[in-house]
Amino acid sequence: MEFIRRCSGFLFGMECLGCGSVSERLDPWLCPACREELLRESREYSFPGPDAMSLFPMRPLTRRLIHALKYKGLSGMASYLVRHSSAVGEGGVAQSIALLARPYYFVPVPLHSSRYRERGYNQAQRIAAALATVTGGRVCNWLARREFRVSQTKLSREEREWNVAGAFERRLPRELPRRGTVFVVDDVFTTGATTSSCISAFGRDFPLDTKVCTLLYDEPVTATMDFVADCKMEWNV
Ligand SMILES: [Zn+2]
Repeated sequence: MEFIRRCSGFLFGMECLGCGSVSERLDPWLCPACREELLRESREYSFPGPDAMSLFPMRPLTRRLIHALKYKGLSGMASYLVRHSSAVGEGGVAQSIALLARPYYFVPVPLHSSRYRERGYNQAQRIAAALATVTGGRVCNWLARREFRVSQTKLSREEREWNVAGAFERRLPRELPRRGTVFVVDDVFTTGATTSSCISAFGRDFPLDTKVCTLLYDEPVTATMDFVADCKMEWNV
């Protein structure tokens, strides 16, 4: 698919994945204005929980890019987003990671095998690989999926938590490292149910510190409504 896109791009100019404009100055997916916007949004990284970090907020642009990663076969989008995030260099997430014990182990949330066959790759694995590259850590496939569960996207919060509880099991090496930090890696943090289930699969005897790192944070609607209400109050004062 990417090959066809590049060929048609060569003939007709490429379309920016952010705004859809045809431009010869894509990098290769965003025009300069959308790339600027992405860099701006990377400064809005967040910590959705005490042990969780997300590189970008869910915004129209990041939503389109994550969609391309998951459904359009653009697996390279994982490293593109990581490279444009604050996980790199002196960015905020990079600074937070630097405070944690080394070495770093990035454990992707496993994809169900049928979905893997359909997609050809696990996006969480690609994100984990990109994070490992920029931080000097390594990818460890220490989790497996137990059984088929219903897709998360159309479920309520309670249904999601039920759906993923017990969905994973650990596949640890015989000799576990004694030091370091484990990051469970996923594409989007919504309720945190999936990554919590992954961490509980490691078990209580798991000796390493565990954190969560996702590309995007999709704030719950209630949080957004609270934010709007707060802003209104400020404006009314
Ligand atoms: Zn654009």
